[in-house]
Order: sequence, then structure tokens, then C-alpha cells
Amino acid sequence: MTDAGPGATAVPRAPGNGTGGAPVPSSPVVPSDVPHHRTAGDGWVECACGRRHWGRFGAAGLLLARRDASGVPVAVVLQHRAPWSDQGGTWGLPGGALAPDEDAVTGALREAAEEAGIDPSDVRPTGTSVLRHPDWSYTTVLADEIHPAEPTATDAESVEVRWVPVDEVADLPLLAAFGDAWPDLRRRLGAGPDTADALPGGAPTA
Ligand SMILES: [Zn+2]
Repeated sequence: MTDAGPGATAVPRAPGNGTGGAPVPSSPVVPSDVPHHRTAGDGWVECACGRRHWGRFGAAGLLLARRDASGVPVAVVLQHRAPWSDQGGTWGLPGGALAPDEDAVTGALREAAEEAGIDPSDVRPTGTSVLRHPDWSYTTVLADEIHPAEPTATDAESVEVRWVPVDEVADLPLLAAFGDAWPDLRRRLGAGPDTADALPGGAPTA
């Protein structure tokens, strides 16, 4: 509730983060003074739904949950998107375009490592949720924290990456698609891997 509102895109930089206090660009140009990863899947898809989406081979993101001792999810990792990015200033999942022939789990973990400094060995994927469009798809990879993970913004795509209490997620200005998906994703986190597309190795469902 102390976070900047949706109109506040000029987030002050923390001192001493190595960027020298450069102004936050207001134009949709990737800053050149911060790391930015590229894959062969980077690019827009003109979708038959009438919109365009990022990721020539689809996209994926990581929904990483921290649970309390009784297994109840208490926080998830969210990314505060850089002002220059699509729907800049909103909060969503660390993730991005899949590389050619890259499966969604691999891609989501790769992007989470690149953007949020999340070590894949600290994470256990538990399931996926796929949003299908005519010419594109987005896979949310649900995962549990198995070793303490301290995410941080590690490239140009994030203003901030942090644990957000589950009960506070809906109060943030969310990326539209993530906001639409959040009620179902939250239910799935709470219910555990109870659906048909739970990953092999998850808890038995029958
Ligand atoms: Zn579409």
C-alpha cells in the first residue's frame, strides 16, 4: 500500500546500484547501461486475436511461491516492470520469450534467473497453466521455493523484483493478463498440484 500507483513510472533509483543515477528513460527504448538478455525468440507476434504479443515461440513466466510450515502459500515473487517495457510500471511475473525449441519450464527458469537472480536449484516446478491464443501462448510455471531465494532485479526489464504477500498481490497495478489469471493461479497455489496438467513428480492426484 506504500507502493507507487500506476501513474508513477519514474521510480527513484537506490543509491549505489552502479548505474550512476541515470534518469529513467520515458521512451520505449532499452537502456544501454544495464544488462539486457536477448534470445532468438524475441519479437512480436501479430495474433489473430487482434493484439500483438511478445515472444515469437510463445512466452513463459515463473510464479514462485513461498509457503509457511503448514504449506500455505504466503508470498510470491513479482516483477515491477520497467517503464519502457510493454505495460511498463505494472507488476507481473519474471519471464519472457521462449527460445526456439525451448520448453516452457526451462524458459521460465532461464528468464527468472536472468531477470530476477533466482537460482533454478532453489525452485521446484509443480505445474503449469497455459493461456492459448490463436498464434501464441503464455505458460505460467508454478513453482515452490525449496531453498531460501532472494530475488532481485538483475537486468533492464525490472525496476524491482521482490516477494509480495499473497494477500497484497491484487492491490498492486498488475499486468492485465496476470491480473486476469491471478484468481485462478492463487487458487491453484493454495490447492496444490490438483489439476490435470500438474507436472510429473508432483504430488499424486488420485
Ligand atoms: Zn492473441
